Amino acid sequence: MSRLSPSSLAPLTDGHGRRIDYLRLSVTDRCDLRCRYCMAEDMIFLPKSAVLSIEEMAELAERFVARGIRRIRLTGGEPLVRRGIDTLVGRLGALIGHGLDELTLTTNAMRLAEHAPMLAANGVRRINVSLDTLDAQAFRHITRVGDVDVVLKGIAAARAAGLAVKINMVALAGLNEDQLLPMLGWCADNGCDLTLIETMPLGEVADDRSDHYIPLHQFIAPLRAERSIFAVDKKTGGPARYFAVEDSPVTLGLITPLSDNFCTACNRIRLTVEGRIYMCLGQDDHVDLRAALRDGGPHAVDGLIDGALAGKPRAHDFHIERKSKPAVARHMSATGG
Ligand code: SAM
Ligand code: SF4
Repeated sequence: MSRLSPSSLAPLTDGHGRRIDYLRLSVTDRCDLRCRYCMAEDMIFLPKSAVLSIEEMAELAERFVARGIRRIRLTGGEPLVRRGIDTLVGRLGALIGHGLDELTLTTNAMRLAEHAPMLAANGVRRINVSLDTLDAQAFRHITRVGDVDVVLKGIAAARAAGLAVKINMVALAGLNEDQLLPMLGWCADNGCDLTLIETMPLGEVADDRSDHYIPLHQFIAPLRAERSIFAVDKKTGGPARYFAVEDSPVTLGLITPLSDNFCTACNRIRLTVEGRIYMCLGQDDHVDLRAALRDGGPHAVDGLIDGALAGKPRAHDFHIERKSKPAVARHMSATGG
């Protein structure tokens, strides 16, 4: 049987009848930034022995595509710090049109200038870039070590390589509440779309998350005071709801895991760099594929994938309360955002 031979197995459907066709593949838990809402300052990363090789990740991704996954997003940690990322992108890019509809990537853009041509050459057409503020000092504060000019150069290189760019901006009370209107203007000038995300309670960080949590309806209030926004019927297979903004070419996405749950439409699973399937970002349940892959090869994981889907939870139970522990102990960077 070839690596991609579709098995006689049924398409991937979870125990709640949801069709699963989207895989988020975390290619590393490491990162060159330390965003305050994502990571602690002194993170302990996985030892090399615990992580899948590029070859193993490619084999698993190919098996998922043979089983009915149509879209893959590479993420992390920071995917562009993983050595061999170009090999993986090349291998997965070759699946586009052969079972895979789309290969995308989420990045902090610190190394995007170097990698944008490689992504475009391998069939990536759109990427998400995380950028919470355009203000250099605020950016340094939020990321602890980042340089916003490097990110902006990375985005320019991506646009020049023909990639569509969507900016992901986490809404953070007291840190970037005043940044929405400048960001919207910058996105309009630079041909990017913009999606806002509520901060989620994943992993211990130095700050109390409740200090920075702000529901998106409140975060966008200054925009609404100036301009009308209209719901649009755009679907990208993700959890965002999309809006057109009066007098702006930018499509605005809102991701509201806390204030407006969207789990009924969930179509995704996540594979970590350790080879674990997490069925839900906000739950601890997982199934380990690494041993089966190493012992029996890619086909040996089929039964585990089916078992994982059967146990996919209906919904996360995120809540953010003062001094409460995070809903799950894993950081977002470990599961793949
Ligand atoms: N390093 C890449 C990046 O930042 O784009 C990819 C991984 S990062 C974990 C993916 C996305 O998750 C980013 O847009 C980031 O802002 C978001 N994120 C990280 N921690 C989060 C949290 N606790 N709540 C909400 N979004 C979070
Ligand atoms: Fe790194 Fe992305 Fe987490 Fe920021 S959000 S620390 S860039 S993984």
